[in-house]
Amino acid sequence: MKKRIAVYPGSFDPVTFGHLDIIDRASKIFDQVVVSVFVHSGKKHMFSVEERVAMLKASLKGKKNVSVDCFEGLLVDYVRMKKTDVVIRGLRAISDLEYEFQIAAINRTLYSHIETVFFMPRQRYTYLSSSVVRDVAHFKGDVSKLVPPCVVKAIAKRNKAA
Ligand code: ADP
Repeated sequence: MKKRIAVYPGSFDPVTFGHLDIIDRASKIFDQVVVSVFVHSGKKHMFSVEERVAMLKASLKGKKNVSVDCFEGLLVDYVRMKKTDVVIRGLRAISDLEYEFQIAAINRTLYSHIETVFFMPRQRYTYLSSSVVRDVAHFKGDVSKLVPPCVVKAIAKRNKAA
């Protein structure tokens, strides 16, 4: 039987418990989940692509059907390269819907076979975003309830060096 592969693209700057919740749900439904850090040259970021990939890998260690990758370019080209049509995205609240709807529609215009599958995280993560983590980190707040230990460490290291 054909393997069901799904791509989970995002900035992951940094990875949060919300992202990990979505990955966990997706990995129970798909045979393989490819988590991919997408490079937006115009977007301001806290961690480099290499650091984001390393933190994702450390957080997902032991998850046999999840791999981590990065890509610069169009999502539709990437999914074809990965030999799949399925994209995973997370929906926190209705406020995410407009943006996600737009992206899904554009992707479908570019590649008619693409399917975007949305997962809802557990309630306690619906308020959580990478930008909230970056804000809390900026003011040296406690991020340990928001991100996995490797990210807590990376933020502490960065704050110490600043
Ligand atoms: P982008 O910058 O492309 O929005 P993110 O890394 O912030 O990338 O998010 C990637 C995907 O994960 C998006 O679909 C986003 O809605 C979803 N996501 C982010 N945080 C959460 C969360 N706490 N719960 C569920 N989904 C989330």
